[in-house]
Amino acid sequence: MQFVDLQAQFEVLEQGIRTGIDSVLRHGKFIMGPEVYELEQRLAGYVGVKYAISCSSGTDALLMALMAENIGPGDAVFTTPFTFVSTAEVISLLGATPIFVDIDPETFNIDHHKLLLAIEAMKKIDPAIHPLPKVPCGISALKPRAVIPVDIFGLPADYEPLLEIAGREGLFVLEDAAQSFGGAYKGRRAGGLGHAGATSFFPAKPLGCYGDGGAVFTDDEVYAEKLQSIRNHGQGSEKYDNIRIGLNGRLDTLQAAILLEKLKVFPDELASRQKIAAKYTQLLSRHKPGVTVQHIPDDCSSAWAQYSILSDSRDSIHNALKKAGIPSMIYYPKGLHQQTAYSGLGFAADDFPVTEKICERILSLPIHPYLSDEHVERICYILNEAMSS
Ligand SMILES: *Cc1c(COP(=O)(O)O)cnc(C)c1O
Repeated sequence: MQFVDLQAQFEVLEQGIRTGIDSVLRHGKFIMGPEVYELEQRLAGYVGVKYAISCSSGTDALLMALMAENIGPGDAVFTTPFTFVSTAEVISLLGATPIFVDIDPETFNIDHHKLLLAIEAMKKIDPAIHPLPKVPCGISALKPRAVIPVDIFGLPADYEPLLEIAGREGLFVLEDAAQSFGGAYKGRRAGGLGHAGATSFFPAKPLGCYGDGGAVFTDDEVYAEKLQSIRNHGQGSEKYDNIRIGLNGRLDTLQAAILLEKLKVFPDELASRQKIAAKYTQLLSRHKPGVTVQHIPDDCSSAWAQYSILSDSRDSIHNALKKAGIPSMIYYPKGLHQQTAYSGLGFAADDFPVTEKICERILSLPIHPYLSDEHVERICYILNEAMSS
């Protein structure tokens, strides 16, 4: 059994993908070929935004989105410590400072009540209100500029209160939709829920290519033009006119051709993921309270990048599945504040207790559109055995 079975998907899509790749090999426009622009149109249409700017990875999508907002040294950006390192890495790469905010224990997404506390702690320079990082220039020298809510495992964060707080405090909201392409919040698609959204086409993501890729979504024309320029070395109106510092951040035409084919079946694949998740939830509900699953609020749907459970018996479940040849993953074994790379921020153990507790108890089970009911049943059976032994 595979954790994400890309081979099974290829068998279904092989002909279309080969035709798409072949066509690029023949026309030879490997950089910014017509498939890239067609994909951007389709992505924007799917997400329900005016502009989609494709790029070289989800990390670069986040980076470009912050660059286009002129985030840099002296700026503070709020995000959660319960995410893949990219989310905070891009903040640090630009010389800005990540301010971690703990998550909700049921959805695993940023807790907006704690965001308010973090903002207050910064204003009053009082880490007793909320943990603050140690920075050489002192916390009072930092200017709160943005928040990056992460749609963890495919479930959109709670954007209504987040946008309300951001509006009051003048913060830019960048949605990390790397895991949530296909998810929805109050009738709107993930990627289009903040002032900008960034997604990833890493192969194992809900919509993945055969390499690295990503995209930024926005409704703002001026911001979209800035992103297009940043992705291509800060290009101005002419090829060798450079008006700002940018990146080589383009998506390969070959990857765009692959994504165009995968996007065709994406709605069916999403429905399949949702069916599998519902089956897991139904079969696992009998283990309550020994096993709990990520809570999906009524007005939200997840893209189910991961199906994750919490249990005090996490390690025995993990080992029992492993023995049975079933892969399961621990996302994430520790919070970003506990990572060596972020030790310089000086956060203490227990600063983000919800994150830390979840890191000790979480386990992600196999999920992909081609996972059979029998496999889901077998996984739940083995989990049951591990729980009762
Ligand atoms: C995968 C991921 C990213 C980074 O995407 P890449 O395409 O691998 O660079 C960023 N944030 C989150 C939450 C992710 O899961």
